[in-house]
Amino acid sequence: MNLSIGKKREETIKVSKIQEMWAQRPCPLCNSTALPACAEVIAATPAESLTYQEVKESFVGLRHDQIFFSYYRCPSCNILYCPWYFSTEQLENLYSEMPNNLMGEDKSTASRTQSGYVRWFAKRIKSVESFLELGPDIGLVTREVRDTFHPNRVSLIEPNKAVHPELRSNVGQVAALEIVQYLSEVTGSAFELSIGIHVFDHLLFPLQDFRSLARTSSPGAHLGLVVHNEDSLLRKLITKKWPPFCLQHPQLYNPETLAAALSAGGWQLVSIGKSTNYFHLNHIAKMGLGVLGLPNALSRLVPSIETPINLGNMIALAVRN
Ligand SMILES: [Zn+2]
Repeated sequence: MNLSIGKKREETIKVSKIQEMWAQRPCPLCNSTALPACAEVIAATPAESLTYQEVKESFVGLRHDQIFFSYYRCPSCNILYCPWYFSTEQLENLYSEMPNNLMGEDKSTASRTQSGYVRWFAKRIKSVESFLELGPDIGLVTREVRDTFHPNRVSLIEPNKAVHPELRSNVGQVAALEIVQYLSEVTGSAFELSIGIHVFDHLLFPLQDFRSLARTSSPGAHLGLVVHNEDSLLRKLITKKWPPFCLQHPQLYNPETLAAALSAGGWQLVSIGKSTNYFHLNHIAKMGLGVLGLPNALSRLVPSIETPINLGNMIALAVRN
């Protein structure tokens, strides 16, 4: 096990080989193309040193020798991002057919995590007539929002068509429901609440999407989100083995860079906290052992008890400027 506890800058190696097929992407927050001499986090096999064909098989799932694109910290605005990453077309292909996002956990335990998010939002928001959700997956949060706020209009944007039938059935009866693949296809407007749970660290152009969401929202509308916190204790403890360092995250936020991105996108961050995930203890042991490269069989020694765990995620609420 290779734990470099408390070591903030865990990598000082330059990426020696970058395949020509990966075009350099500017900073998603300030658009700068300036980079520090070294990446802050580098995988054992950096994705940019491989071809698309070699990388695409690793897009889904956790492994101990996780392949990912190197993360650099923008010297101008401080956001941690991948200057080399998939193109829009490649991402559309990769996301169009994926399994659901429960990370192998059962639906009732995953629901407990999601209802915790909605309770956190409900403490800070009075009523919601019109609701938009980015990346609802199978609709566990959507269902909680429906039961908590009883919105009349619901628009769901889920690029993964494979989960649309399950999403529709989980959401059930709503007066006006639309399910589309992309934000540009939404016909509704003046949304009072938009939510994206584990969405904004996946987006190639997060600023554009924050701005589009601001345009489709009513004045004073809320945006609720859950993202990973790259400044969390867990990230500092397990460094490059922190699971959010993966192919699906072209950037990762901390409280400061999230506030800056929201502000540049037309939103003001008003509340931020640590979010809790519920897992069965033996399931989290299995994932943890896998990430650390230890035998899975050890997880049989761990009981199957549902338990709250802080994985270094943050939950936040913003108001439209
Ligand atoms: Zn920047």
